[in-house]
Amino acid sequence: MKKELFYDVVVIGGGHAGCEAAAASSRLGINTALVTNDFNSIGEMSCNPAIGGLGKGHLVREIDALDGLMGVVADKSGIQFRLLNSSRGPAVRGPRTQSDRYLYKKNMQEILANYCNLKIFSDPVNEFIFTKNSISGIITKSGLIIKSSKTILTTGTFLNGLIHIGDKKIPAGRFNEKPTTGLSEQLKNYEFKLGRLKTGTPPRLDSRTINYKNLEEQFADKDPYFFSFLTKKNLNKQVSCRMTYTNEIVHKIIKQNLKKSAMYSGSIQGVGPRYCPSVEDKIVKFEDKTRHQIYLEPEGLNDYTIYPNGISTSLPENVQQEICNNIIGLENVKIIRPGYAIEYDYVDPRELLLTLETKKIKNLYLAGQINGTTGYEEAAGQGLIAGINAALSVKKEEPFVLDRSEAYIGVMIDDLVTKGVSEPYRMFTSRAEYRLTLRADNADIRLTRKGTAIGLISLNRKNIFEDKLFKINDTKVSMKNFKISPSKAEKFGVKIAKDGVLRTAEEVLSRNSIKMSKIREIWPKIPFFSKEVDEQIEINCHYKGYLKKQDSDILAFKRDENLIIPESLNYEKLSGLSNEIRSKFKKIKPKTLGQALRIDGVTPAAAYILLSHVKRKSIKRIA
Ligand code: FAD
Repeated sequence: MKKELFYDVVVIGGGHAGCEAAAASSRLGINTALVTNDFNSIGEMSCNPAIGGLGKGHLVREIDALDGLMGVVADKSGIQFRLLNSSRGPAVRGPRTQSDRYLYKKNMQEILANYCNLKIFSDPVNEFIFTKNSISGIITKSGLIIKSSKTILTTGTFLNGLIHIGDKKIPAGRFNEKPTTGLSEQLKNYEFKLGRLKTGTPPRLDSRTINYKNLEEQFADKDPYFFSFLTKKNLNKQVSCRMTYTNEIVHKIIKQNLKKSAMYSGSIQGVGPRYCPSVEDKIVKFEDKTRHQIYLEPEGLNDYTIYPNGISTSLPENVQQEICNNIIGLENVKIIRPGYAIEYDYVDPRELLLTLETKKIKNLYLAGQINGTTGYEEAAGQGLIAGINAALSVKKEEPFVLDRSEAYIGVMIDDLVTKGVSEPYRMFTSRAEYRLTLRADNADIRLTRKGTAIGLISLNRKNIFEDKLFKINDTKVSMKNFKISPSKAEKFGVKIAKDGVLRTAEEVLSRNSIKMSKIREIWPKIPFFSKEVDEQIEINCHYKGYLKKQDSDILAFKRDENLIIPESLNYEKLSGLSNEIRSKFKKIKPKTLGQALRIDGVTPAAAYILLSHVKRKSIKRIA
């Protein structure tokens, strides 16, 4: 007889989405199983060993604010911390780190292996167990049956994964890892809309064969900006990346071999990410550019592998070698592993509710690359939300949904389930309407209390956060009591109209050019707690006017967001809608008027019809 087990929540896949999903569900006190192909590949970075960046860094800070794992693990494994856009406004600054690939996995595996309420199985999932329109468990390769109340599928690029290197085709979920077959087919039987997407990776190089002599160096920041609100110090040696460039000879080689590239030979059907083009794409699409930058990024402190960021390719191995040997610094380079493109199945994310539960199969949640996204951070953000909602549903509690004014995670999920994807979806700061509010620096202030309210946040984090709030407040109160006259201020180099009126420290700081360091020079007695506390005070003071305006925009947004559209609404009965818009409403089933308005192609007239109907039926408002 086959062995049968039961867990309240089963997470399939130990990638970035699966790790966060399993941890979130366990943190909420739910008996959780993480079933993955191989324990040793938990936390694997399929492509470049780096976390964060513009938009992506915001996601990691939000995951951390909700007590997720990615920020802590990235800090423990970081070998080149950099704050991108540091010279620009705080809203668009993006923390990033080059990670030690080995350390990232090790740290993630250690945390999960010791996580409360979590059991990990190293056993590929072969089959879902469906009962009518609901999922009740899974069957693994070893024959284990694991029954569950909720299942979260996070299989990334593995569903019918196919690697392309020139004309070579290798069924794989990642290099040297078997693909998953059978699960997509079961989903198709339930009429899920699936598609094919593709992504790619560059060859890996042996650093001992690179000539670094004439290459520009990119240093780590002296004062690292961490991902986690809990991290206080850097643990690892910081390393530099080097820069080199493609050139006209390289472009010529690529053009001559274009037909041999899997991308251009017609053998790849999937659409790739426009913002992460292969080197072939760069040469074809930006024909007038004479060179493209390549960052030579170390994969670890005790690792000779170099990730040449910028030359992702699916050309044959011998052409990859020829390209490299014509790049300055790489003349004698040894390729450790060729670059490749990979195609895989994804599920149209419009099949999902905002909780990431599927509309067609109850109790099944999807998170990560399977939903048409690309990137570790995007996957982790979705995993967190799916894990939270699966667990809350087991507890019969209200769903946890973040809206577009609360978090980048909310922007991403709303985009996915409302608009779907036509190419792999990646986060950018430009996707958020309320950027001044959704900053990386204030993710804890936006989210930690929300997490605490549902029991997601550890006591340690809660205490650290509340202490920070207290200190911010204390400093602000104190700043109201310290005053200065215009003439005295001038002695400190601060120019104020000479009207004889005393200004508080807060008023002086509200001038954009004045930093907290100047305030401390004038008033050394204002209590100093930490640079994070000062950062919050300074940013909020400088942006007070803009934030006030944004708050009123958010209020208007919330008005539409709080207009709930009943799930039972019969769109057939709404007269005046075009067939196209009616079918979009039926498919997406918007939860709020705001979401309905964001569906592609929904006209103000259609929204008006919906609004009047919903109002007539006495709409319910969320408090
Ligand atoms: P993954 O990280 O793929 O994890 C999937 C997990 O599911 C794995 O642990 C796997 O073992 C497990 N699994 C699969 N099938 C089963 C099964 N049947 N049973 C149990 N476990 C299973 N992102 C970028 O942002 N930029 C890039 O340039 C980029 N390039 C990439 C290049 C390549 C070649 C690949 C493969 C990915 C690339 N990515 C890139 C994407 C990035 O790796 C993913 O977005 C991210 O890893 C997705 O996380 P995930 O958790 O959804 O899935």
